Amino acid sequence: MLNWLGRKVGVYGYGKTGKACVDYLAPRLIRPVVFVDETDPQKLAALQAQAGDSCQIIGADGIAAEITGLDSLVLSPGVPLSNPNVIAAREAGVQLVGELELAARYCQGYILAITGTNGKSTTTKLLGHILEGLGRTHVLGNIGTPLLASLDEIESGDYVALEVSSFQLETVDRFKPHVAIYTNLTPDHMDRHGSMEEYARVKRLMAQRMGSSDFVVTNARESWFAPESFANQQPTYLLYSAEQGAVARGAWVEGGRICVNLGAEQHELPLECIKLPGVHNVENALAALTAAMLVGADASTVAERLSTFTGYEHRLELCRSAGALRFYNDSKATNPEATITALKAMSGHLVLILGGRDKLTPLDEMLALVQQKVQYVLLIGEATERFAAALDAVGYNAYQRVGDMEHAVAASTGLLGSSGGSVLLSPACASFDQYSSYEQRGEHFKELVAALSL
Ligand code: ADP
Repeated sequence: MLNWLGRKVGVYGYGKTGKACVDYLAPRLIRPVVFVDETDPQKLAALQAQAGDSCQIIGADGIAAEITGLDSLVLSPGVPLSNPNVIAAREAGVQLVGELELAARYCQGYILAITGTNGKSTTTKLLGHILEGLGRTHVLGNIGTPLLASLDEIESGDYVALEVSSFQLETVDRFKPHVAIYTNLTPDHMDRHGSMEEYARVKRLMAQRMGSSDFVVTNARESWFAPESFANQQPTYLLYSAEQGAVARGAWVEGGRICVNLGAEQHELPLECIKLPGVHNVENALAALTAAMLVGADASTVAERLSTFTGYEHRLELCRSAGALRFYNDSKATNPEATITALKAMSGHLVLILGGRDKLTPLDEMLALVQQKVQYVLLIGEATERFAAALDAVGYNAYQRVGDMEHAVAASTGLLGSSGGSVLLSPACASFDQYSSYEQRGEHFKELVAALSL
């Protein structure tokens, strides 16, 4: 247990996680020092006024002088271990703790944690939806509310479906879920992790402390998370496979049915109870249902809960249909792999809106699929010129530079075929060049689509 009474505690970052830390520490009579990367004295004063007495806010200019004198420092996920102030703190012997580590030590619930590059939020939501059929359930973590902010509401025996990011895992030490789900691993966040090997290593930390009564549920087609790639062989490993047929233990699809073999029990469910489009969503469903069945969900509850889950906003969300026209909001697709996944799930005449803040990830595989499946591409945002050059390089010229979302949506309907088709916003880029978040970008798309007279 961490006993911080009388110790000097710092919190680095004052976003959702930083605030949750301060709120958690205040009733425990700890008034932390909060470090923010802000230099404007007025903004700092406003932050301090907002925080009141709960903490002392220190701006960028004062961090170096203060940070090495702490006993403990809680890091927000957005602050990398390579931050020079964090390095200085560590070298000075300050104990570094992540929010997840801190929260998990006091969590009374039964934690089912989900990580991977893509599919985390959908799987977490779906798992939460299934678990609600079993008992009190909390859907927390990277998906929205930090675990630490909900600790007081979680009772012993409650289920916690917890989305975990690689940033959060960098600082775990004793964190140990009861069930760990691994979705997949593709290049992302290379600016933070440096290499795929390091990215995978950090992700695998989620399972490092799991014991012999715990379970790891992992994707059969993902070699980065193959059971033998984990150093810890104590938990039981189960696989799920949407397209590769039977696995020894876990869940797979065969002859229009979902088959589940948990060792002691076997179950079958109709595949149609999964309502979400695309093979990737079959994977998400198999991962979630395997985890739920490991903690006691029966086949009929799972089938009923799966069939009532119609998706998650901004993920291939069908936001408008009119006759044979369809509009899909996949604003959450912030990297090419997510866009590839969406393209694979689509059929028919397709107009694709691509672009935003470029993450400089390779485009070849995505463009090969664009050539096969997309009739027209509309380019928006900062990524426009690199994407246009890449399209030119593969000889694809059915594209236009339209600048922003208004122009993209306005142009899109004229590009649909006479017999209809789909407009898909699946930008393969971050949103921050024109929006504050992918949610805001998706909302804007939906508003513009709703206003179209079709
Ligand atoms: P995350 O929380 O990991 O970012 P989401 O569930 O929010 O994942 O989905 C993000 C995007 O990733 C979606 O737009 C979707 O197209 C794609 N995606 C969802 N599930 C998978 C999956 N299992 N494999 C690959 N891509 C996926």
